[in-house]
Amino acid sequence: MIGKIVKEGERDRTQEVGMPMKNESSTRFMDEVRSISPWAFVIAIIGFAAMVATIVFAALADKNAPPMAVMVLLGIVAGTAVGCYILLIGYVNRDAGRRGMSRVLWTLLAIFIPNALGIVLYFILRKPRIEKCPQCGAIVEPGFGFCPRCRYRLSPVCAQCQRSVHAGDKFCPYCGGELGAGAKEVVTVEGRSGL
Ligand SMILES: [Zn+2]
Ligand SMILES: [Zn+2]
Repeated sequence: MIGKIVKEGERDRTQEVGMPMKNESSTRFMDEVRSISPWAFVIAIIGFAAMVATIVFAALADKNAPPMAVMVLLGIVAGTAVGCYILLIGYVNRDAGRRGMSRVLWTLLAIFIPNALGIVLYFILRKPRIEKCPQCGAIVEPGFGFCPRCRYRLSPVCAQCQRSVHAGDKFCPYCGGELGAGAKEVVTVEGRSGL
């Protein structure tokens, strides 16, 4: 079988090169942070500064207030909370669009439902992200290995069970099959010969 031969080759190459371990969850988090629009960062910084200033000025006005250092620290903590809250609203605003949900409605809910419950609600109720096939533009569900319309390979799939795997994976999480560093190339040969 072609697949077997390719897989042997892949295994050798994996041992030679060594497996570059990528911290995928952290890069994914950074991608999400980067998706927040710059204006949200600007407003978050303004919110942070305003919160610090409010608390510091309140401390200056009130003679019975705790020492200045304590108030500044309090201001920084409160300012950070406000900044994060604004960034989360910015994230909801951007993320809702990627999931075919109303951006305006969810942004307003995130802002106006008290105690960040609008944001919590959003994360509970949000729909899976809509993804499009880069080749034909068809809407594909997350986790699809191939585009159902044009058979474009959307993500690396396991050569044995044809299920989607992550690019850096060594073994298939479903069937335990060995994937190797060049999972993608294995997939192409296997995928085509299997179809
Ligand atoms: Zn397609
Ligand atoms: Zn598998």
